[in-house]
Amino acid sequence: MADFAVPPKILIVDDDPANIDLLAAILEEDGEILFATSGKAALAMAESERPDIVLLDVVMPDLDGYEVCRRLKDNPATAQIPVVFITALDQETDEEAGLAAGAVDYVAKPISAPITRARVRTHMELKRHRDHLAELAYLDGLTGVANRRRFDEYAELEWRRARRHGRPVSVLMVDVDEFKHFNDHYGHQAGDACLQKVAAVLGGLVNRPADLLARYGGEEFVCVLPETPAEGARVLAERMRAAVEGLGIAHDGAGAAGCVTISIGVATAVVDASSTLEDTLARADAQLYRAKSAGRNRVSAV
Ligand SMILES: [Mg+2]
Repeated sequence: MADFAVPPKILIVDDDPANIDLLAAILEEDGEILFATSGKAALAMAESERPDIVLLDVVMPDLDGYEVCRRLKDNPATAQIPVVFITALDQETDEEAGLAAGAVDYVAKPISAPITRARVRTHMELKRHRDHLAELAYLDGLTGVANRRRFDEYAELEWRRARRHGRPVSVLMVDVDEFKHFNDHYGHQAGDACLQKVAAVLGGLVNRPADLLARYGGEEFVCVLPETPAEGARVLAERMRAAVEGLGIAHDGAGAAGCVTISIGVATAVVDASSTLEDTLARADAQLYRAKSAGRNRVSAV
């Protein structure tokens, strides 16, 4: 989530350290100041630090500001960072060149402190709101875990990475047992609260950075576990099953075992040219179906 309590990062790029000092003094209250004195250093720092804004000098000896801006915009990791040119060039054509390279704004030298501050604040605020909206678009509104869209994009990305390196990927399909009966018996608000609790306990167990838990739809969750062989996936699934049972959420609806439980289907692929994410998800789904037919509250793995 966009964390509005963390100060934003402001990257100042200028080959003249005196200009960096000047801008840093103007903007020191607006965020954490980072700086670079060459285009190459700026590109490296933008990629590693992910600043919230870049103030970019145009005339620099190695890469000029336009080229730095173009490369920032070409790199998906830095494309969303607003770039403001700081320049002594004030002809109209230069402004055009900067905007064509992807800059959002211009500040002309000699620097006016209030104008610079106002523009930088505006662009950082817009970026933070954009980031926040982008994150919301990837979250399930009820449970706060990733949504289906996020899962589809992320799993595809991890799948391609695994294929390049011939690595295993496991997926878990998780379904709350007899959830329709839970809703019928306790009502939809209780049903929502149940899904929130289940999502929270599952999320607490999915804690390696590359693992992703998402709500797949309804009472179904899905998990992608890169670099995870079958046995590791089965162990995690069993932990999930036990943790949800351990919540002890009463479920006296039809067909239930007295408390809310989940069933999980596990599938693993060593990703090569012939295996697909869709097949692996389908295999996990088939295992989920087996777990259900075998009596629920269990893990079934290929
Ligand atoms: Mg310069």
